[in-house]
Amino acid sequence: MAVLPIEKGADNEILRTVSTKVKAADKKLGKFFDDMRDTMFAAEGIGLAAPQVSKNIRVVVCRFNNGTSHELIVDMINPVITEHSDDMSVHEEGCLSLPGLWDKVARYNSLTVKYLDRKGREFVLKLKGLNARIVQHELDHIDGMLYIDRVKEQAMGKK
Ligand code: ZN
Repeated sequence: MAVLPIEKGADNEILRTVSTKVKAADKKLGKFFDDMRDTMFAAEGIGLAAPQVSKNIRVVVCRFNNGTSHELIVDMINPVITEHSDDMSVHEEGCLSLPGLWDKVARYNSLTVKYLDRKGREFVLKLKGLNARIVQHELDHIDGMLYIDRVKEQAMGKK
């Protein structure tokens, strides 16, 4: 187990690369998930995507129900949002890769996400509120996007 260094900066090349799909859930990936969890806890984050720790693969870790007795850490391989609500909410968002910055971002209120766990088993989760926001933020990371891009988009009235 290890705390990994976090990639930072809006122009960081690794953060700006579209990550590739994971082909197999193997032991090495299990160890990587442990390191991602350690890194997320050390940074007091509620989510972390593989590019943030220098790996351009479609892997994220989410910390759902943060601050409640139902906290749940979920590892996701190749996550895909299969459905989402039409309605959105605006909330302040930050990112471990953009320290000190916060801005208001509109995100879908609820969604369905399909993914494989670290053992390669398929799961489908229906999420809302902050949990749904975390998934949207982390999935943007594996597409080379940062929340500041959403802020810009939304300011231009695209969404
Ligand atoms: Zn982030």
